[in-house]
Amino acid sequence: MSLAIVHHPAFDAQFDAAHRFPMSKFTRLAQILVEDGLADGGFFQPIPAPEHWLELAHAPAYVEAVLTQRVDRATEKAIGFAVDDRVAMRSRCATGGTVLAARLALERGIACNTAGGSHHAAREGGAGFSVFNDVAVAASVMLADGEVGRVLVFDCDVHQGDGTARIFADDRRVFTLSIHGERNYPHPKAVSDLDLGLPDKTGDEDYLAVLPELLATAFDRAHPDIVFYNAGVDPHVDDRLGRLSLTDTGLAERDRRVIGFFRDRDVPVAGVIGGGYSRDIEALSRRHSILHRVAAAFA
Ligand SMILES: [Zn+2]
Repeated sequence: MSLAIVHHPAFDAQFDAAHRFPMSKFTRLAQILVEDGLADGGFFQPIPAPEHWLELAHAPAYVEAVLTQRVDRATEKAIGFAVDDRVAMRSRCATGGTVLAARLALERGIACNTAGGSHHAAREGGAGFSVFNDVAVAASVMLADGEVGRVLVFDCDVHQGDGTARIFADDRRVFTLSIHGERNYPHPKAVSDLDLGLPDKTGDEDYLAVLPELLATAFDRAHPDIVFYNAGVDPHVDDRLGRLSLTDTGLAERDRRVIGFFRDRDVPVAGVIGGGYSRDIEALSRRHSILHRVAAAFA
């Protein structure tokens, strides 16, 4: 079976090319997946997340503020961009995309979004380029609907998944794990169920060496019915924000080991692309496509 890939044209809110958030990567990533034959059956297109989904992980007042474009200045500053109608729609679609990827993963074993991983958004508001926490919303929707009983969030973005950790701090059904650059944003860090902060310039070998024990520990403690895998590519050596030094080969091996571990144990995996920051949109989009290439081998 081919890999189920979720995409929506609205993922790209069409920022100016000079904006420090590389918005056009979502469009280019989808093109690359088509060009390289990874999306031959077409994309699965999500619905924009409805309000009642968003309110499972976010305060109703914040959801309302985003949907009516009345987010306060301080929160917009924490997010890093203004929340206009296009940004609101992209955030709803990306969140709907992660819900859809999760449902497809339950049916097929694995599925990937071409967005998602907005893990800095907390219950009360967004931060760090994250408006809605798509993984937290998707996990909450699946739990509320009884589609799953236990969830593992396995977050390999270079930045700690602080919003996700905070949203689920008191929820024993969701186990949050974050492997990140210790000196990267955010400061201070939140407390996940399992955190590993790595030193600057950690390379492929040392990074991959820590995975087996973390995977085994997370699996034993979480007993997950589904894994949300944040495959952020910002641990890459060329990333503008990340402080780690992984190569493309290292990222691919990371993805293979994480996905392989859970698929070997028959746990469904929903992949989200997470962060990646480069002015070279072509190189960045190709780097994000590593997730889909690796995942396709498990579909
Ligand atoms: Zn990141």
